[in-house]
Amino acid sequence: MHRRNVLKMAAMAGGPGLFTERAARVEAQVARATRGMPSPKIKDIQVIATAPDGMRLTVVKIFTDQDGLYGYGCGTFTQRAELVNAAVEKYLKPFLLGKPADRIDDIWQACYNSSYWRNGPVLNNAISGVDEALWDIKGRQCGVPVYQLLGGKCREAATCLATTGGRTNGEIIDSIRKLQSEGYRHFRFVGPDPAFFDPFREPAWEQLPVNPAAKLRAIYVLFEEIRKQLGDEPELMTDIHEGITPQQAVQFAKDCEHFRLFFIEDILSPEDLAYFRLIRQQCTTPMAMGELFNSPHEWTPLISERLIDYIRLHVSQAGGITPCRKVAILGEFFGVKTAWHGPPDVSPVGQTAHLHLDLASYSFGIQEYTGFSDRVKEVFSGCPRMDGCYMYANEAPGYGMEVDEKAAAKYPYGTSEPPARRRLNGGWGAARSPDGSVIKM
Ligand SMILES: [Mg+2]
Repeated sequence: MHRRNVLKMAAMAGGPGLFTERAARVEAQVARATRGMPSPKIKDIQVIATAPDGMRLTVVKIFTDQDGLYGYGCGTFTQRAELVNAAVEKYLKPFLLGKPADRIDDIWQACYNSSYWRNGPVLNNAISGVDEALWDIKGRQCGVPVYQLLGGKCREAATCLATTGGRTNGEIIDSIRKLQSEGYRHFRFVGPDPAFFDPFREPAWEQLPVNPAAKLRAIYVLFEEIRKQLGDEPELMTDIHEGITPQQAVQFAKDCEHFRLFFIEDILSPEDLAYFRLIRQQCTTPMAMGELFNSPHEWTPLISERLIDYIRLHVSQAGGITPCRKVAILGEFFGVKTAWHGPPDVSPVGQTAHLHLDLASYSFGIQEYTGFSDRVKEVFSGCPRMDGCYMYANEAPGYGMEVDEKAAAKYPYGTSEPPARRRLNGGWGAARSPDGSVIKM
């Protein structure tokens, strides 16, 4: 309340005495309720490098000049982890020290443009780690979960899909039955042999040729078998993981139309995006795409031309919450739903960032979730809670998570890695077709 108004009220009451005192109290109350919080400045940035489950995780911790106010973000790129960590420590840290931590979009734009060359992995991951940490800080500063900062809940929990286990059709069907009994309704498999995509498998990809045509035939037969044994109720999806020709992709999408799938994922590589138009013209099989995307040039046309149905961005690689909330909103206007990529090579901090976007985005479709082992939970506390297929936030300020740095230090990079992976410093190597040529995977 302005002083002029206070004096006017006092005059109306016939004198300054008691009324002035009451008005001053009201004025102080209004000032308290409407004042901005002091702006925290970035005081330090640290990288927590840990691999409790073998995956090389990158957690960015940002400290502010306000006592006890800090936040965590995920910048994990397990195949090139040490490069991301250097990008944070050697480039973003000196650039950001002293900047106001509460100007999240401004900091994102500044980091994004500060390297001149942009939209690539590594630098994107580093920005993601910083960005997610700044949202955590703002939530902690305001005393609210991050989803509140994004507009509040559109739903109570995020519905999660389950990736099946098993190597044979029978094992995969048994896995679906077991997951159904746990409450899941959406089932995804990376076929025909899901273990093929286990980065810790032996022999490594280099020694294991992939026959794309045989892979597609095997997936088709598996869909047939699942529908025969389990009926139409299970929502089914498969991840092709690239590696086939665009012509095979168009044909396969047509062939699978009658299975009424929830989606097919990564049927094309990012280099072949133009073929999505052909798939759209040929069939109604829903398409999911985007975990490999780095750039708005990749996702914007797919969304605005309605060429896909689910956007699968890897939030901790696409730049964090700031760009992904914009993508979710863009999708809302074009009928494209979110299905953020949630494999084990995202830290629980990154998975929690997905959840807060899921809760606050009207265009949420489904969340990929792979669970947290006891070793991961030893390092990360406050992980989201699962009830059946539903993932719930812990309702604490920010993400409500803490990282036990002593526990993290027990699991340095290289923990549980087979020798072939350790020799490549966590790299995954290449996959080859039967004639020995490299294929995308
Ligand atoms: Mg995928």
